Formats: sequence, structure tokens, C-alpha cells
Amino acid sequence: MPICPECGGDMRWDRESRFYVCKRCGLALSRKELDELKEKAMDEIIPEEEKRKRMRREYLEWWLSQKKE
Ligand SMILES: [Zn+2]
Repeated sequence: MPICPECGGDMRWDRESRFYVCKRCGLALSRKELDELKEKAMDEIIPEEEKRKRMRREYLEWWLSQKKE
């Protein structure tokens, strides 16, 4: 079951309108739109993860340099 990109609620498939409809907020998305949103979310997740990794590395370097002095 897909998850609503707006509120995180469950989405159900509406066979008549051929849309996924959010049970919580009523957002309706076509299969194609849902796929596009999923791809967009993936694109955003990767740089964010990379940023966090970089930050951790910088902190570690800072911490090590503090220890040396
Ligand atoms: Zn929703």
C-alpha cells in the first residue's frame, strides 16, 4: 500500500477514478504521479544522507584536532 506524501497516511486504490486516494487527507494521485514522487524522494534522500556523513567526518576531524592540542 503506498503512503501519502503529504501526511504519511495510507492510500487506497480507487478503481473507478483510477487514482490512489489518501484515507486521511483525501489527496488523490495517479499511479504515474506517485511513481514520480517516489523517484523525487529518492533523489532528495541520497544527498541528505551524504551531507550527514560529511558532517560526521568534519566533527570527527575537529574532535581529533582538539585532542591533539
Ligand atoms: Zn494524506
